[in-house]
This record gives sequence, structure tokens and C-alpha cells, in this order.
Amino acid sequence: MATISIPICAYILTLYPEATAAAGAGSPAPAGGASLRPLALGLATPSFWTEEEINRAFTEANRIWLREADIQFSPVNISRRDEVVPADARAMWIRFVNRLSPRGQGIGVGFVYDLPAAEGGWGGGRIVVLSGEKVREGIAGFAGNLLAHELGHVLIDDPNHALAGDDHSNLMHHSRNPRVANAGLLNATQVERARATAATF
Ligand SMILES: [Zn+2]
Repeated sequence: MATISIPICAYILTLYPEATAAAGAGSPAPAGGASLRPLALGLATPSFWTEEEINRAFTEANRIWLREADIQFSPVNISRRDEVVPADARAMWIRFVNRLSPRGQGIGVGFVYDLPAAEGGWGGGRIVVLSGEKVREGIAGFAGNLLAHELGHVLIDDPNHALAGDDHSNLMHHSRNPRVANAGLLNATQVERARATAATF
């Protein structure tokens, strides 16, 4: 297989709350819905990701994707960026898709402090968003493994993890243990789909 390279626009992303005026300090976050509490309270959340951490995560993600499918994410262009976003998960995701999708080739990847979700990251369309708060609970290499998984959502387009067939060693298994080394394997169907998508990026 010939190596396919996909350019990455990576953003150290500070999030600002959309409706500061409506949410005075001390007002509670909306009950029940998955919303990011600091944003719901009207507070900005700085990213705290460093360029070194981002480069390490891509080194690990590339190790997995080169081994499994001869795909690499390169070059990785890192810059700082601010976005004003809604606090609730669904509206935030839509905002990210509209704002972070690259105009030209490649994939946009936002590195944020936290997300209003149990998952450590989101991936789909042409974007990925990764939560630093959640990956820091994991062992060394977990951030890169999770990044590889979310990039897999972009390349394989299997949001319900069906193709992983409940194989725990598969990169696209729905559940990832942050405290053990995840195998990160891909099967032939996943590789074929990922390479077909990657060739169009
Ligand atoms: Zn997933």
C-alpha cells in the first residue's frame, strides 16, 4: 500500500460562553442536559494543551494508523484559536463542525480543556475535538490512542462502532480503557473504508 498523508489543522482552542449576559455568576447549569458547566455559568475555558502534548498525541496516532492502514496525519499545523460556543453538547458539536471544518484539504482538530460529555473526544465529518481533562486521567499514550479513535470516526464513518464487531482490541471499539494499553487494531473492512475516504481528503 502507498502511504496516504492527510494534512491537519490543529487548534489549541479556548472556549468562550455564548450567552454571558443570560447566565450571571453563580447561576446553575441547566439541569439534566449534557452541558459544559463553566460555559453554562458564563466562564471561559482555556485549553491548557501544549504544542508538545499535541505533537506527542499525533506521533502515537500516526504509529497506529501507519501500522494498520498506511495512513499518516501530516503535516500537523498547530495554532491558537478562540471560539464562542453554546454550553450544551449537541449545539456545541454543530458549532464545531461549522467552524473547524477545513476550507480546503485535510481535517480540523480542536484541543479543548473539556467537553460536555462522558467521552474524551468527538469525531465526525471533517473534524475531531479532544478533551484534555479526560485524556489526562489515562496512561501515557492514551491521548494519542483516543485521537486515533476519533480520527477513525472521520475516516471510517461508522458512528455506532458497528464495524468493530465488539472486538475490544479494535481501535474503533466503543469503549476505551484509559488505564491499560489499547491494542488499536483495524479489520480489513475498516482499512478499506478509511483508505477510500483518506484518498479524497
Ligand atoms: Zn467512538
